[in-house]
Amino acid sequence: AKAQKEPGYQAAIDHAYTKYKDLKEGKNADYIKELATVDSNIYGIAIVTVDGKVYTKGNLDERVSIQSISKVFTLARVIEESGPRALAEKIGVDATGLRFNSIVAIELQKGKEINPLVNPGAIAAVSMVKGNDSVAKWKNILDTHNAFAGTKLKLNMPVYISEAGDNLRNQAIAHLLYAYGRLYFDPVQSTDVYTKQCAINVNAKDLAVMASTLANGGINPVTGEKVVSPETCAFTMGIMSTAGLYDDSGQWLYAVGLPGKSGVGGGIIAVCPGKFGIAVISPPLNEVGNSVKAQKTIFDIVKELDVNPYHVT
Ligand code: GLN
Repeated sequence: AKAQKEPGYQAAIDHAYTKYKDLKEGKNADYIKELATVDSNIYGIAIVTVDGKVYTKGNLDERVSIQSISKVFTLARVIEESGPRALAEKIGVDATGLRFNSIVAIELQKGKEINPLVNPGAIAAVSMVKGNDSVAKWKNILDTHNAFAGTKLKLNMPVYISEAGDNLRNQAIAHLLYAYGRLYFDPVQSTDVYTKQCAINVNAKDLAVMASTLANGGINPVTGEKVVSPETCAFTMGIMSTAGLYDDSGQWLYAVGLPGKSGVGGGIIAVCPGKFGIAVISPPLNEVGNSVKAQKTIFDIVKELDVNPYHVT
C-alpha cells in the first residue's frame, strides 16, 4: 500500500531502465585517456527524495569519476563562503554558450563573465575556495563533496594521474585567467586541485544524495547535516539551469525544465527543488560531452513523474 501512495519513483526508474538499457549510442570520453577504458555498459539510476528515501536500478557497485559535476559543489562552497555577489563579480554567472574548455570564452571578455560550471570559471572557483595552500583547499573541497554525499568519497587515482599528466589545456586556461587578474591562487596548483576534484569517484546513489541535498535547501536528507544554506542552493541551481549541460544547456532546460549538471565521466544529476535529486551514470557521450543515456533517462523519468515546474495543468 505504501508503494502505491508514493509518487511512482521506482516505476518511473524501472520503465526508463528497461527502455534504454540496450541503447548503444555515444562514445566514452577519450581526451582523458583513462576514461576511454571505463566499461561503457555501466548504467545506474538513483533517486533520493528530500525525506531520505532511496530508489535505485542498475549498476550501483561501480564508481566513475565525477568530472564536471564536481563544479556544482565547489561553486556552492564558494557562494557559501564568499557570498553570491563575490561569485558574480570575481567569476561571473552567464553561460558562455561555448565548449566547456573554451579559451575563446575567456578571451572574448578578457576573463570577465566566465561561468563556474565550465572549466575556466570552475578553476577560478577552486582558486577562490578558502584555504591557505593547495592542501587546505583540497581538504575543503573534498570535505564539501563528502558532506553533500553523506559518505567518505575516494579519489580515482588512475583518472587523476592520467588527467594530471595531460591537462595542458586546463593549465593554459588557468594561466590566461591569472594573466587577466581573474584567478585568485597559483595557476598550477589551482589546476591540480581542480583535476583532483574531477577525479572523485561516485556512483549514481552518491550523486543522487548530493543532488537531493540541493533539493532540500542544503540539508543532507540522509545524514541530516546542514551543508550549505537554502540561499546558496538557490543561487547554485540558477547557474545549473542556464549552464549545467555545457553548450546544450538550453536544449536541456527546454526538454527537462530542471537544473542539471553533466560530467564527461558519464554522470548527470538533476534537482527537483523540494522533492528529490536524481542521478544517472552511463559513460558514452554525445559530441558536446553529455551522456546520451543519462539525458534520455532523466527526460523520461521527469516526464513520467510530471515534475517539470514549467508544466502547469
Ligand atoms: N576534468 C575534465 C576537464 O577538465 C572535466 C570536464 C567535463 O566533465 N566536462 O576537461
